[in-house]
Amino acid sequence: MSDIPQPQPSEKTQNNPSAANTPKTAPKSGKPRTSSVIQIHPAGERIHPKKADGRFAKLRIAAVLATQFVFYVIPWFNWNGRQAVLFDIPERHFFIFGLSLGMGDLIYMALLLMICAFGLFWWTTIAGRLWCGYSCPQTVYTEIMLWIDHLVEGDRNKRLKLEKSPWNFTKIRIKATKYLLIFLFVAWTGITFAGWFNPIREFVPALFNGTAGGGAIFAAAFYGFMTFLLAHIMREKVCLHMCPYARFQSAMFDHDTLIISYDAERGEPRGARKKTANKEEEKLGDCINCAMCVQVCPVGIDIRDGLQYQCIGCAACIDACDEIMDKMNYPRGLIRYTTEGALKHDYAEKDIKKRLLRPRVAGYGAVLAVVVTAFLVGISQRESMEVDILKDRGVMVRENNKGWLENSYNLRVLNYSENEQILTATVKGFEEIELTGLPEGGLRVPARETVTIPVQVSTIPEYADKGSHPIEFEFTYHEVTDGEPSPSVLVEESTFIGE
Ligand code: SF4
Ligand code: SF4
Repeated sequence: MSDIPQPQPSEKTQNNPSAANTPKTAPKSGKPRTSSVIQIHPAGERIHPKKADGRFAKLRIAAVLATQFVFYVIPWFNWNGRQAVLFDIPERHFFIFGLSLGMGDLIYMALLLMICAFGLFWWTTIAGRLWCGYSCPQTVYTEIMLWIDHLVEGDRNKRLKLEKSPWNFTKIRIKATKYLLIFLFVAWTGITFAGWFNPIREFVPALFNGTAGGGAIFAAAFYGFMTFLLAHIMREKVCLHMCPYARFQSAMFDHDTLIISYDAERGEPRGARKKTANKEEEKLGDCINCAMCVQVCPVGIDIRDGLQYQCIGCAACIDACDEIMDKMNYPRGLIRYTTEGALKHDYAEKDIKKRLLRPRVAGYGAVLAVVVTAFLVGISQRESMEVDILKDRGVMVRENNKGWLENSYNLRVLNYSENEQILTATVKGFEEIELTGLPEGGLRVPARETVTIPVQVSTIPEYADKGSHPIEFEFTYHEVTDGEPSPSVLVEESTFIGE
């Protein structure tokens, strides 16, 4: 029995605020639960969760590595000679591998955001808080901070002892080492964040030789500081008190959503016992009340109190409890991924179809499919060049050296293509009308660049009497290629001001 954790000597009502706020959403199935819980994380004090080992801890490590690979490594990838993913805000241009979005593509950016939002809603309806538990940046950064805590200060008991110990050389050395590691981590995180918005291969050397721009330095410092504040100082408080998603996602939950739950029917009445004890004779359920599930919980709640909005779905309590069940020779899964419907025996636990084929999943799925389709269709039919005709307000109308009336315009030409393009133009609106200002052979616009050029439209004075006359620009453009170019045509309307 010695290797089986024993309950704490005193049981009292937990004064942790998270427990006090326990919602009344506990599964209704099963036997009534014991009302007392063990106080593990005293109110107002920093939570020092015990390290959990097990299959879900390994999954979490994999998720942290995968998400951080994306965050730290992707900005260093190049694509067609430029940074593969770059949100170039000063230039108002976003590059996502082969996709290039400019200011004229706000609709596609909005659709991308909608895809992310509806994707998350759809996923939450199916899988509950899997996003929170494994890939939310707050969870992932907090997990990394916990790794540093664990690496430098040791597991929960050692950390608690260190917190209570007086300041001496050893404590200062340990704390200094920890904060040095944290500083290096948040500094590199901030620099990487800035590298998503500024070409990282130029920004990092510039940072070290003192020539980086102020905006990029500010972005790096701000994100680094916020990482320190949210993931190290505030930790679970962000999930408990600040995260809006934790609140509104309950609207997406129903009794078929995947949740992490304690099986009260199997676990109650809880109680300590010897490993060799006959639980039937002692009239006990499978929960030995060891509180390991509470000790490992990073938000300091007791899963046995039922489904709580504070639970981030990290599954640490599953690993901890499975380990206890193994030691007791009880089946695993007293705490497990399940659904309220399965806990109530409305259907078999493994009935995946029952969970997936439901109106809410279909509803979010349909909206998601529509938005994805709109995005793909729109982006595939998008012109690779856009021309904005800006009237030169400084010069409304004048007479040119031919004696014709002339209006001035600025053409803002946006090339979304990965190749240089050549633009030519004609103008219609009067029987005799002339366009000047474009270079002979057409305007060459480099790949992914915006070029603004002044042009003039003129006509015989008799055609354009006082007032505004509609005219039409027809632009023809094609990519610069070695082979036969395939031109595209753009028609834009404007006006000509008469005498
Ligand atoms: S649910 Fe499992 S880990 Fe939690 S107290 Fe009971 S036996 Fe221990
Ligand atoms: S109750 Fe379990 S799943 Fe929820 S946050 Fe705590 S340890 Fe993670």
